[in-house]
Amino acid sequence: MARIRVALLGASGSIGRQTADVISQWPDHFELVALASGRGGEGHQALVSAYPTATSLIGGNAEDLKKLALDTSPNIVVIATTGLVGLPATVAALEAGSAVAIANKETIVAGGEVVMQVARAAAQRTGSTLLERLRPIDSEHSALWQCLEGESFKRVRTLWITASGGPFREATAAEIADARPEQALRHPTWSMGAKITIDSATLVNKGLEAIEAHRLFGVGMDQIQILIHPQSVVHGLVEFQDGSTKSQMGSPDMRGPISFALGYPERMATSTPPIDLAAHGSLHFSPPDLTRFPGLAVALDAGRAGGAAPGALIAADGVAVDRFLEGDFPLGAIPQLLRDAVERYGVRPSPKSLSDVLALHEEVAAFATEWRGVW
Ligand code: MG
Repeated sequence: MARIRVALLGASGSIGRQTADVISQWPDHFELVALASGRGGEGHQALVSAYPTATSLIGGNAEDLKKLALDTSPNIVVIATTGLVGLPATVAALEAGSAVAIANKETIVAGGEVVMQVARAAAQRTGSTLLERLRPIDSEHSALWQCLEGESFKRVRTLWITASGGPFREATAAEIADARPEQALRHPTWSMGAKITIDSATLVNKGLEAIEAHRLFGVGMDQIQILIHPQSVVHGLVEFQDGSTKSQMGSPDMRGPISFALGYPERMATSTPPIDLAAHGSLHFSPPDLTRFPGLAVALDAGRAGGAAPGALIAADGVAVDRFLEGDFPLGAIPQLLRDAVERYGVRPSPKSLSDVLALHEEVAAFATEWRGVW
């Protein structure tokens, strides 16, 4: 059987490296045909040495990534880039008949209907499901996808997304608001990049994931609920109309969702350790506290508002997290910046084209860069 050709965009980041690790475990099954990373470095060079036939790109712009995704004729394009640099490649790859495995929230949250329409058309054209074309790598969405396999989406009552609660799960509102990068970067269960770790500390990440689920699974924002679950064992749950709930469990290790997305519909054996429920003894669940985590409230509001609000939210958040990491302001300023950006730009209609998406993103990012709040 011919090997599955994989193009990996964002090869040197956390998801990129773990994707390469999954591929390396299945040399007879996958072929890495392209790898791109923003800054190159040792990780990139190691991949070039391991896969000498793959086309390598360092520091490419959105057009370069798109060209790479088209020229190397991959079966699957993995989007593990940050920001919107991978958006044109995502759209082009779907149109060209590649499946896209996506670990990048901006593409779905900001790309919105523009991306979803292309994905739906690709699914129709190839006689496959939407999720087979646009495969989520985010652990919660992978969990929901796995729970929904073989089920009718019409019978879904609620989608539940879990959150570890981050480093400030037990902290007071004042401690959270005053937090500095070294405290916010200490995530209790997941090892991830800096941007997503800060988004986990504010719980903005869960708001973005709720919007992502709303788009990917076509359910209303009011049908998506969040549960704080410190052990990070249960990643997502689907509650059906008959009162039955299915959940997916696994170690907090992204190689699980990555291998599911790459191998689909097969399940690949990986070195990811299985969960030991007896060792855990008990699992805990509680509702999120929107008072201590106002960023989550802002993000959920943006999802419910629709229009340009989700795009404004994620553009502002990218800049807000960078400014927080640079020491411009404490953690508590992030939700304020997000609310100001969403109120200002969110009233606009949904972007209608790729260039609309990118223009909104630029405009909001410029606003967020100049933003001065009071804290
Ligand atoms: Mg996640």
